[in-house]
Amino acid sequence: MSTGRLTIDLQAIAENWRALDARSAATVETAATIKADAYGLGVGPVARALHAAGARTFFVAVAEEGAGLREALGPSPRIFVYGGHMPGDTDMIGDLGLIPLLNSIEQLTRHFEALPGAPFGIQLDSGMNRLGLEPAEWAAVRDLVMKQGPHLVMSHLACADEPEHDMNAQQLRVFREMTQGLGVPLSLSATGGTLLGSDYHFSMTRPGIGLYGGRPFEDAAAVVRLSLPVIQLRDLEAGETVGYSNTFTAQRPTRLATVAAGYADGIHRALSGRTQMFHGSQACPVVGRVSMDLITVDVTDLDSDPQALDLMSTMQTIDDLADAAGTIGYEILTSLGPRYTRRYTGVTT
Ligand SMILES: *Cc1c(COP(=O)(O)O)cnc(C)c1O
Repeated sequence: MSTGRLTIDLQAIAENWRALDARSAATVETAATIKADAYGLGVGPVARALHAAGARTFFVAVAEEGAGLREALGPSPRIFVYGGHMPGDTDMIGDLGLIPLLNSIEQLTRHFEALPGAPFGIQLDSGMNRLGLEPAEWAAVRDLVMKQGPHLVMSHLACADEPEHDMNAQQLRVFREMTQGLGVPLSLSATGGTLLGSDYHFSMTRPGIGLYGGRPFEDAAAVVRLSLPVIQLRDLEAGETVGYSNTFTAQRPTRLATVAAGYADGIHRALSGRTQMFHGSQACPVVGRVSMDLITVDVTDLDSDPQALDLMSTMQTIDDLADAAGTIGYEILTSLGPRYTRRYTGVTT
C-alpha cells in the first residue's frame, strides 16, 4: 500500500447525530449540514448513514452539492441550499427539488419569477453580516414573502463556539424580533448553538462539525483515522539533519521513518515539528519539514519498526492537529486530499 488510508467511522457519525439530537426537545427536528462533500468525508456514505440514523433534512452550501446528495438519498429527504437561488441554478433547483434559502431581494425575485410555487426558505441576517436579508429589507418584504409560504426561516450565529460571548444573546434577540408571530418553522443553530441550550433551538437545529467529531462538541465520538504507510526507515548519527532547510538536527542516534503523505494531502506544512504520529498508543514526533508527499518521524523509541503510523485516531483528534497547525478542525477535515484510500466502517447502508 503506497497511499494513506483514511477510515471514516459511519457509526460514530450516527452516534454523534443521535447525541446532538438528544440535546434538544423531541419536538425540535435535528437536521444535518453536509456541505463540502460532508466536510471532506464523502457525501454519499455520510448522508446514507445519517438518514439511517433518522435525519430527514439536509443542508448543503450550493445547488451543485445538492445534486450528489439527491442521488445518494433519493427523492424524499429535504435538501436546503445555504447559498440560495443563484443565476443558472433554476433547472437544478426545480429538477432535483432543492429548497434554496433565499438571502436577498434579488434572489426572492429570481425564485418567484423562475419557479413560482416551488418551495423555498428565507435566510435572515441577525448580525453576522455574511448572508441574509437585513432587518429593514425583511420588514419591507415580509408580508409578501409569508404569503408564498416559506418552508423555513433561518439565521446563523457568529460566535456560538464561545458560549459566554455577548453576540449569542444579541443575535437571539434580533432573530426573535425578526420572526415574531411568523408561524413557520425557524432555525438559528448549528453545532455551537445546539449546545447553547433550548432558547437557541427553535423548530430545527442543523449541526455540521459536531457530527464529524469536532469542537465545540467536546463529547463527540472520533470519526476519522488517518494511517500513513512507512516508505523507508533509516538510522542517523547525532548531528545529521533532516528534510528541507535542515530544520531538524538529530541530538542522538536516531531511527527515522519516512511516511507517504504531505501538504498535498492536506497535512498542513505549519505542522512541521509541531505534531506527532502514533504507533498504537505510543507517540513519535514529526521532525523536519512536512513536504509535499512525505513526512519524517522520529521512531527511535519504538520497540519494533512500524509499517504505518497514525496521524489521526482516538489518540490525536482533528482539533489536536488544528491547534498545532493554528487552524480549526473544519479546515483539517476539508483539506484531506484525494490520494487517500477512503474506507467506511460502522454502518452498512
Ligand atoms: C456550515 C454551516 C452550518 C453548520 O455549522 P457547524 O458549525 O459545522 O455545525 C450551519 N449553518 C450555516 C449557515 C452554515 O454555513
